Amino acid sequence: MSTPKLRAELDGIPVYKPGRPPVAAEGVPAYKLSSNENPYPPLPGVMEAVTAAMGAFNRYPDLACSQLTAELAERFDVPAGHVATGTGSVGVAQQLVQATAGTGDEVVYAWRSFEAYPIITRIGGARPVQVPLNAAEAHDLDAMADAITARTRLVFVCNPNNPTGTVVRRAALERFLDRVPADVLVVLDEAYREFSTDPDVPDGIDLYRDRPNVAVLRTFSKAYGLAGLRVGFAIAHEPVADALRKTAVPFGVSQVGQDAAVASLRAEPALLERVAGLVVERSRVVEALAAQGWTVPETQANFVWLRLGDRTEAFAAACERAGATVRPFPGEGVRITIGETEANDLLLRAAEKFRKELP
Ligand code: PMP
Repeated sequence: MSTPKLRAELDGIPVYKPGRPPVAAEGVPAYKLSSNENPYPPLPGVMEAVTAAMGAFNRYPDLACSQLTAELAERFDVPAGHVATGTGSVGVAQQLVQATAGTGDEVVYAWRSFEAYPIITRIGGARPVQVPLNAAEAHDLDAMADAITARTRLVFVCNPNNPTGTVVRRAALERFLDRVPADVLVVLDEAYREFSTDPDVPDGIDLYRDRPNVAVLRTFSKAYGLAGLRVGFAIAHEPVADALRKTAVPFGVSQVGQDAAVASLRAEPALLERVAGLVVERSRVVEALAAQGWTVPETQANFVWLRLGDRTEAFAAACERAGATVRPFPGEGVRITIGETEANDLLLRAAEKFRKELP
């Protein structure tokens, strides 16, 4: 029987892998530290907005996300025309590739980084150009600038980087941006921006203002705790933002998501207090892991990275037996999300036991 012809580019493109859900075993608490989510339940005000919006799901949502767009524009002091919302920031990232790169074009990014980059690049028919992280597990911006060719249409800079948590700092990023040709779009993926406490980590929105080839990608999934509602956005100059409106899946952000995002912006102080608590937990986890003897790269995100090589899967399995799922990248390392205090305690005990039992 003949089958429909599918695009050859799809061959070999992996299906995006989500973090494993917590595995409940009798008598063992189950925590999910595998997807960089926010461990806290919704704030009451956000819950109220969600409940109110739930009553009208026989209607399509506001296609333009008007209220959310207006409030984001005010929050970041940018024109509303520079704000483009989408189905999670991964959806917006895919739109950015669609808007810039086609067959034969190149998309440059560091590797290892967010695993959606190669997928969305190849779905777009473009060629991924992966530039290895440096010895400190951070972006090698000089090598990334060197990798740009006449075919490069887009460069992703993931800051902080998923899964290593490392950052690029202001002076280095500005130097890099000065080297990128004006017709190449640089996407500053700041999904974890709110967890960054280092004053030398630039706010991409400051950098985009006088650079028409810079777009900033943000999300409500992490610090704002709305991962399940799928709301992300980009801030970019009009030609890019307009292209994002064209490439958007119509009605891709539900009304529940829009209203929850608006309520989250209004609840920002309370949400940022939670973020501050997670940052304190991050320091505690990093220090405890270092005291156990692990090498932990500097992280400014809500996760830590352990380069474990061929011990990666054994470590992940040990954590899971103890009651916490983490994110293994086989042969490379493990990414551990900072969760609630009890989850972090459990993880630290599992890491210590694993280390003591190493041959
Ligand atoms: N960018 C980075 C760097 C991420 O790690 C993630 C999620 N893992 C995303 C974007 C996408 O998140 P979302 O689609 O939930 O906004």
